Amino acid sequence: MFLILSTLLLPTLISTINGEIGSQFGESHTIVKRATKPDHFTYTDQKEWLTFNGSQCGNDRQSPINLDSSLATIDESLHLNFNSYDNLLEAGQGSVHSTGHNLRLDFKTQYTYSVTGSAVEGHLMELYQLHLHWGINSMSGSEHAIDGERFAAEVHFVHLNAAYKGFGEKALEHEDALTVIGVIAKNGDPNPGLDILLEAMQSNSSNIKYDTKNQFSLRYFLPGNTKSFFKYFGSLTTPNCQEAVNWIVMKDFITVSNDQIDRLRSLVDEHGDEMKTVVRDVQPLKGRTIYQSDSGSMLGPISLASIVFYLIIHILFIQKCILN
Ligand SMILES: [Zn+2]
Repeated sequence: MFLILSTLLLPTLISTINGEIGSQFGESHTIVKRATKPDHFTYTDQKEWLTFNGSQCGNDRQSPINLDSSLATIDESLHLNFNSYDNLLEAGQGSVHSTGHNLRLDFKTQYTYSVTGSAVEGHLMELYQLHLHWGINSMSGSEHAIDGERFAAEVHFVHLNAAYKGFGEKALEHEDALTVIGVIAKNGDPNPGLDILLEAMQSNSSNIKYDTKNQFSLRYFLPGNTKSFFKYFGSLTTPNCQEAVNWIVMKDFITVSNDQIDRLRSLVDEHGDEMKTVVRDVQPLKGRTIYQSDSGSMLGPISLASIVFYLIIHILFIQKCILN
């Protein structure tokens, strides 16, 4: 019975698959595209990411997203400890390169820095590398949006779960493989940390590693307040978009200057094209819960408005007293 059914159904199945490839993806050209390694992706054609072998880019828990502070669930038990983050990285102990998709800092001595705490579910998450994303203008350079707004740039501190050391790519099959801390940069004063990374870059070419020439502090890329943050489950923001990331995005900002972003935009990818925009489109939330460690920082403008309101009332009250 099964044999008869198979004999009858097999040609139909094959023609369906051929039809799909023919109509949806074109001919041999498509097959080459489908076999393309994810490392050669571009930001101009993000739909192509879905066609890479093993791609998760079309799945339901993708990043980046819009972080809506009015919808995020407050969980005051969320804490994050930064271990050894105050230790300076001496000149020559870091190496900087353009990957063709971002500007990245690696550490010659691995796993010096880590984060722990309830925000990372009690795991030991060790800092592996950090990198920056930026865009064509100061309103499109952060990958995450906060309350619908994007900013000049975003730093990603990529941490690996110590439990999966030595797993390589296989670690990404585990949902708790990575914690990425995102820090959004607004347009403003030059960032001294970014200056150190840019000073190291001896050319605009990608994939050439240069040693840092000055002492670097990770704190240059962290806001003063690291207790206020969003947290949600998502993915890598580059192909194959593996859904293995516990995302922590700081509510407070750092700053970068226009000149610094211009310098980043002059870096070139493997094709010799300038990297004007290295940002993935915002992805749908699809029913996920976003948590926030407090109702803090985002209420800043409201608190300021309350203070102004209070002062006006106070002045009016004094005036009334004087007039009486
Ligand atoms: Zn990134």
